[in-house]
Amino acid sequence: MLTFSSSDRVFVLTGAGVSAESGIPTFRGVGGLWRNYRIEEVASPHAWHRDPRLVWEFYSMRRRVASAAKPNPAHFALAKLENILQGHLFVCTQNVDNLHEQAGSRNVVHMHGQLFKSRCDTCSHPPFDDANLYEPPAEVPRCECGGRIRPHICWFGEVPFELDQIYHALDQCTLFIAVGTSGVVEPAASFVAHVAGRARTVYVGPENPANASSFTECYLGKAGEVLPDLLGAL
Ligand code: NAD
Repeated sequence: MLTFSSSDRVFVLTGAGVSAESGIPTFRGVGGLWRNYRIEEVASPHAWHRDPRLVWEFYSMRRRVASAAKPNPAHFALAKLENILQGHLFVCTQNVDNLHEQAGSRNVVHMHGQLFKSRCDTCSHPPFDDANLYEPPAEVPRCECGGRIRPHICWFGEVPFELDQIYHALDQCTLFIAVGTSGVVEPAASFVAHVAGRARTVYVGPENPANASSFTECYLGKAGEVLPDLLGAL
C-alpha cells in the first residue's frame, strides 16, 4: 500500500491497460479492436492523406466501442486520489477515451488526444466536441474553410499534446505511478527514466513493461484489482 505525505507530488501515467477491464481492447493485446486494421493505414498523417474515409471508418468504430464503455475501479480510485491530493496529483493519459472523466477526474491531460473531439486539418479553429460516426458511404466532413475534419488524435509521427506541462509536472514529482502501459510508445515510455533516481517509481499491470528496469516497484495484476488496494490507505 502506498502512503503519501503533504510534500508529495504525484504523477500518474495511464495507458490502454487501465481501460481494458472496461471493455476497450489494448493496442498490443489479442483483443481484436486493431486486428482488422494495419496501424500505419489508419493512424498516421500518411494514412489520412491517402484514405481519409478508411481513417474515419476506424475512428468511428473506436467511438462506438468507447461509447459503450464504463469506468472500472482503477479509474474510480484515481478520481478519488485527485479529490484527496487536490493540486498535488497530475494525471497524464495516453488513452483517447474519456473514462477518467466519466469516473470523476477533473484534471486529465490527454497527451495523445481525445476520441470525442475533432478538428480541421487545415485551419486553426480549436478542436470541438464531436461524437458523430463518419462511416462510408458518408463523405469525410468539411470545415467552413474547405479543409477536412479529422479526429483530434496524435497519430504516429505527430508530436503529442501538452508536453511542456507534462515535463514541468515530471520535474516536480516525487512519486511516479504508471498503470497499464507497455513502455514501448515514446515519449511516454521514457517518462520513468526522466524521474528515476529522485522519485519513487511504481508500475501496475499484469506483466512487466518493456521499461521495467527503470521502476523501483512493479505490482503485477489487473489495474482494477491492484490499484484500489495500492491506494487503499486513502
Ligand atoms: P499498449 O496496448 O501498448 O499496452 C497495454 C498494456 O496494458 C500492456 O502492457 C498490458 O500488459 C497492459 N494491460 C492489459 N490488461 C491490463 C489490465 N487489466 N490492467 C492493467 N494493465 C493491463 O498500450 P499503451 O502503452 O497505452 O500504448 C498504446 C497506444 O495506443 C497509446 O498511445 C494509446 O493512445 C493507444 N490506445 C488507446 C486506447 C484507449 O484510449 N483506451 C486503447 C488502445 C490503444
